[in-house]
Amino acid sequence: MKRATTIIIGAGQAGLAMSKELGDRGIDHVLLERGSVAHSWRTERWDSLRLLTPNWQSRLPGHAYEGPDPDGYMTMSEVTRFLQGYAQKIDAPVHSRTTVTSVCPTDDGYAVATDRGHWHARNVVMASGACNIATVPKLAEGLPPNVRQITSMQYRNPQQLEPGGVLVVGASATGIQLANEIQASGRPVTLAVGEHVRVPRLYRGRDIKWWMDASGVLDTRYDTLDDLMRARRVPSLQLVGTPEKITLDLNTLQRAGVQIVGRLAGLRDGNAQFSGSLKNQCTLADLKMNRLLDTIDAWVAEKMPHGVFAEAHRPEATRIEGDPPLSMNLLDRTIKTVIWATGYRPDTSWLNVPVLDGKGRIRHDGGVTEAAGLYVMGLPFLRRRKSSLIDGAADDARDLADHITRGLARKAA
Ligand SMILES: Cc1cc2nc3c(=O)[nH]c(=O)nc-3n(C[C@H](O)[C@H](O)[C@H](O)COP(=O)(O)OP(=O)(O)OC[C@H]3O[C@@H](n4cnc5c(N)ncnc54)[C@H](O)[C@@H]3O)c2cc1C
Repeated sequence: MKRATTIIIGAGQAGLAMSKELGDRGIDHVLLERGSVAHSWRTERWDSLRLLTPNWQSRLPGHAYEGPDPDGYMTMSEVTRFLQGYAQKIDAPVHSRTTVTSVCPTDDGYAVATDRGHWHARNVVMASGACNIATVPKLAEGLPPNVRQITSMQYRNPQQLEPGGVLVVGASATGIQLANEIQASGRPVTLAVGEHVRVPRLYRGRDIKWWMDASGVLDTRYDTLDDLMRARRVPSLQLVGTPEKITLDLNTLQRAGVQIVGRLAGLRDGNAQFSGSLKNQCTLADLKMNRLLDTIDAWVAEKMPHGVFAEAHRPEATRIEGDPPLSMNLLDRTIKTVIWATGYRPDTSWLNVPVLDGKGRIRHDGGVTEAAGLYVMGLPFLRRRKSSLIDGAADDARDLADHITRGLARKAA
């Protein structure tokens, strides 16, 4: 049995940031990683994906983007290189190709089983990712067999799809990006739209992420919210990172020829049924976008000298013309593929510690679970609005490393 004071599961940005913080505090640790550094970015994303956060926002403890294009958006191979460079720079003790198969409590910590032997540690930090499994709604079972279905994690590029119609379900960052790319490939796309969060790419001459960072929106703490559970379920922003810095929203998609319908509500007798709430959903998304822009304008008015930024404006409201169809025949072979872009969830199948709620989610208070010495990182709104982003790893790792340090000091005393 090998031993370490702390085991970090996963060598993505969260695990690496934690490694840096523990190293700085002199706490011995290892990272157990089933693939190699940045495995999720290397293997689980589609070919054309770029970050939707600008390069300057890729900031980790003691490491930041230093290239010539701070306002650009990294490709997946650039993200991989960025994280690999970080792992080397901090000399992270990564054990690659080591899959954790079980974590069990012991009298003085945790037994961690892997496909390459057994470990014991006082503390375990689960930095194994929030997006290990694509969420597919139960109604997918009703899809007729003539329609192929894949998840956004299986999607790589349009050439992988049969020629013909594609129904993309879900209109957050993933869904809108796939809809746009597939429509451009000549496959007519129908996009089923539920709750979504609309934002412009650029506002008053700056990236929306710059505004959210500068005005403190991304630093909002988890313990200041009235409805934290709700905040943790808010879908990702409708954004894409392109060299042209385009805004990709439902208006852009409709101009490109994508047909917009309501949330997929049922699949019965070969028919897809869509909710009639599309217009309401869009009105709500416009309202929330304008509220965010109001917050930004108020911040500018209060903190910035007059005339520094372009004038305030509001994007055109989402246009939904006529009555979008409420059903679609899936037996007539018009739709060849359904793509589920309906979110992601973590894989905790290896976790044998009673810290899951009734829905299988890890119960935690800002990353600290009820089981002494067991921590989690990288989940949505873990400690801050930015927690699941690359830029969120640094602050969360620092806070949790402090917690680990205090726990070890208490035990030693
Ligand atoms: C499509 C998509 C686009 C995104 N775009 C952005 C963006 O533009 N900007 C941004 O800031 N964030 C973005 N994110 C969010 C977030 O930054 C990523 O999900 C990121 O990968 C999370 O980093 P992480 O370290 O928390 O987890 P991961 O990167 O998933 O790292 C977890 C690691 O744990 C390993 N692992 C998992 N299970 C085990 C096990 N049992 N044993 C051993 N190792 C294991 C995995 O192999 C992986 O390497 C995006 C997410 C997705 C899904």
